[in-house]
Amino acid sequence: MRRVLLLILIGISLCFAIEIKPVKGLLYFGADTLVALRTVDSAQDRCYLAVNPHTLHTSLVSSKLCSFVNCSSDSIAEVFASLPYQRLIADADINPDSLQDAGLTHLPVSGHGVILTIDMCPSHRPPDMWFFDSLLSIDRRQRPVPVAISLSGLWMEEHRPELMRLIEMQKNGLLDITWINHTDRHPYDKTKCFSSNFMLEPGDNMRQEVFGLERRMILAGLVPTVFFRFPGLVSDHRIFTGVESLGLVPVGSNAWLAKGQKISDGAIVLVHANGNEPTGLKDFLALLRSRREEIASGTWMLYGLTESAAAAVR
Ligand SMILES: [Zn+2]
Repeated sequence: MRRVLLLILIGISLCFAIEIKPVKGLLYFGADTLVALRTVDSAQDRCYLAVNPHTLHTSLVSSKLCSFVNCSSDSIAEVFASLPYQRLIADADINPDSLQDAGLTHLPVSGHGVILTIDMCPSHRPPDMWFFDSLLSIDRRQRPVPVAISLSGLWMEEHRPELMRLIEMQKNGLLDITWINHTDRHPYDKTKCFSSNFMLEPGDNMRQEVFGLERRMILAGLVPTVFFRFPGLVSDHRIFTGVESLGLVPVGSNAWLAKGQKISDGAIVLVHANGNEPTGLKDFLALLRSRREEIASGTWMLYGLTESAAAAVR
């Protein structure tokens, strides 16, 4: 369904300039009532980026195929209070003041296994594409393999062939990728402390970072999701609530492998495949090898971020 929608809706000529703005309202599209998050305007058409409040799947819908009704955030929250999208936002909101790891850090899963998130922060180094090949070679049973990839705009710009290869792996049914917004420029200054670094650097650039990445994703043929990861996992109350006000769900981690954090069932595992942190990748593959028999028998597996998040709050 998502792929069909994508093919139909990307028919809008997105090779031209697009403008993205936040919007609050409901979108009636066929039998579905979606929560509209953005308007996406090109010279040819207006599209809406919208989320299905039951499944958390997002779509780009042409304004010619749907009807839009303005609605306040409070009204949307009231109407959809019992549905996964609204409940997930409430769940992620439990630690908005935390300087690191605010948002979701783990999710309950139905069996044994974890949710794998792979960050692509800006880097001049060659991406670790071997890691994805290794994932597929160790787990030959689960297809597609669910992974969440956090994209930054500067990484997309510098590593286009690798981005296209990941998209191909998704199209070919090898990977089921949940794309996470990891900001456009991914601000970072190694000389500064956390409290004035990453998204907390002086100057209010939060919207530019969010929309800049969404714009790049749409132009690359991807549909932005509701998931957002703070660079460095660093945020404060103002940035956290600002990101949430754009309809996004912050995703942290309780298992950043290169920092020695341990894995438990339902952990949101964090590794980097941007060439900067091979230790975490090797540790994760060693874990998979140690569980080879459980993986082969289907008693230990990787879980998708979107599906796990939707199921966790049902
Ligand atoms: Zn990062």
